[in-house]
Amino acid sequence: MIIQLSKAITSMEKEAIVSQIGGLGYKSNEVKTQYGNYLVAIGKKEFDIRKLGIMPGIADIHRVSDDYKLVSRKWKVSRTIIDLGDDVVIGDGSLAIMAGPCSIENEKQIESTINHLKANGVRIMRGGVFKPRSSPYAFRGLGVEGLKLWYSLAKKAGIKIISEVMQVSQIAAMHDYVDIFQVGARNTQNFNLLDELGKVDKAVMIKRGISGTIEELLYSAEYVFSAGNEKLMLCERGIRTYERASRNTFDINAIPILKEKTHLPVIADPSHGVGIREYVEPVALAAAVAGADGIIYEMHEKPEEAFSDSQQTLDFMESSILIKKLKLLHQLDSVI
Ligand code: PEP
Ligand code: MN
Repeated sequence: MIIQLSKAITSMEKEAIVSQIGGLGYKSNEVKTQYGNYLVAIGKKEFDIRKLGIMPGIADIHRVSDDYKLVSRKWKVSRTIIDLGDDVVIGDGSLAIMAGPCSIENEKQIESTINHLKANGVRIMRGGVFKPRSSPYAFRGLGVEGLKLWYSLAKKAGIKIISEVMQVSQIAAMHDYVDIFQVGARNTQNFNLLDELGKVDKAVMIKRGISGTIEELLYSAEYVFSAGNEKLMLCERGIRTYERASRNTFDINAIPILKEKTHLPVIADPSHGVGIREYVEPVALAAAVAGADGIIYEMHEKPEEAFSDSQQTLDFMESSILIKKLKLLHQLDSVI
């Protein structure tokens, strides 16, 4: 059960509600986000929620049968829209495109990527400065210094930044230089990280775990929301299956299923989802048709020279073609 508390609630009114809920055998968890104040009540007993609903201090009350609550679509009719400022909005029915290299490498690469994005009308650039690599000897990113350089160039160009945060201590260091914190597939269930991201007023995109279920992804989002941050989106990036013909198996099912289960925007990552350059475009287009609110993909001026994930990285020409097709497809989808 989710109880939306009114803005003007007094502490006495709140105590009365908590005690009433307790009397019904429910445990209440108070959640304060940048947008609202909620009590998430966990319990089993059936009762007439209208009786509770008339208590002073309650704005609205909803029964949510799902085990995750705040991210469930069962209580929130409208979809979550994330406004990054400067007319960059995710989840409003437009198709957000986020593109950039796997890793941020140097100033020249940042500049050429920004120029490509600007020429193609893309407002969000992706790139890692902290890279989770299978091998400790591989390139592990430029760190915060690289992020600061990227930020200064992106800001001038009106481009927003999404970048992966790998551990709690990086949140504060990255905070002023990112627009979206990305939680990578290896950290989907890093609950300490999720808790801390709940305390910042910055958008967060959580990727599905490498072998994670859709439900586990929703629970991870519940961690961030219940810790106080509603600016949340989810990302399908492929899962590990027995199939070896591709790096991962992009779970197209996850797109409509997530859209049904949650009010949060759903983003698709075809680059990691399939892991092979030639197939990034068809998978991206399929995800857009399946209802994704955004597509995030890897691209580089010279993919063969990229420091990481070159085998799945589009070049600028391929990227331009993909953007054109995504835009056309989205227009068509809104018409039919
Ligand atoms: C990435 O986006 O470059 C990345 C490491 O993704 P994932 O966490 O999905 O593997
Ligand atoms: Mn990558």
